[in-house]
Amino acid sequence: MSYLFDREILVLDGAMGTQLMQKGLQAGHPSILWNVTHAADVIAVHTAYRDAGSHCLITNSFGGSRLMLQRHGLEDRMVDLNVAAVQNAKEAASGRCMVLGDIGPCGDFLDPLGDITEEQLYQDVKLQASIMKDAGVNGFIVETMADPGEMMVSVSAAKEFGLPVLASFTFEVSPRGFQTMMGTLPGIAAKAAIEAGADAVGANCGTSLDLNAYLEIGSLMKEKSGYHQVLLQPNAGAPIQDGDGYRYDMDPSQFAKWARLARAEGVTIFGGCCGTTPIHLAALAGNFAR
Ligand SMILES: [Zn+2]
Repeated sequence: MSYLFDREILVLDGAMGTQLMQKGLQAGHPSILWNVTHAADVIAVHTAYRDAGSHCLITNSFGGSRLMLQRHGLEDRMVDLNVAAVQNAKEAASGRCMVLGDIGPCGDFLDPLGDITEEQLYQDVKLQASIMKDAGVNGFIVETMADPGEMMVSVSAAKEFGLPVLASFTFEVSPRGFQTMMGTLPGIAAKAAIEAGADAVGANCGTSLDLNAYLEIGSLMKEKSGYHQVLLQPNAGAPIQDGDGYRYDMDPSQFAKWARLARAEGVTIFGGCCGTTPIHLAALAGNFAR
């Protein structure tokens, strides 16, 4: 099996949630359920990213932790939903790309701000990761994190299985510069994730971030993370209210040009978050030999 970091540049994939919304997923509905109820749609999105040049598909398992599933009364479906998420990505990959198991935030604050203890969180993430590992993922991505404490616990739990773990925070613009919702700066966030054992650190999503912000965050994280690999997955611009939903209007060629600039800053892992499409991903991947 090829190893995740064999390549000089690793191209991840683009958005899953906003792609599924275009296929009818309603906001607030747990998208992980679609792995079973709308498997063909999920596989179609993965396949489009594979054909666009992704090296690594990310499972549709954001919200697949026990705590998140509990909110929808789905905690009994923990195994079958996470297994289906991996199977759908692997079916689309058909041996041509690797598959990363997606782990999102637990949706609560850690004790003492919230109700969940570090030990509970650790066991929850370990359980989700073990299900996805048994189903055959090549590594994990812990993403859209705001709290470095939650990131550290989640990364150490995911690292139990000897597979690579990518760690990605979400930043927003603030008067102090870029920081997570919990007030953490990019350099501090990167160090925390690395200390917990992350193999790569970076950023994804963020509704107030443009591509220039992503260049700055990328170089800040690169500088503070030493030799570590940095990953960036921006949204396709800021969301624009459009009727009941949102649309995104970033030009794919702009996205591709940005990736070349980020590459020059030392970023080596690229993908897209909300609003990015297979067309964006194809433009991005076109920069880098497959
Ligand atoms: Zn996003």
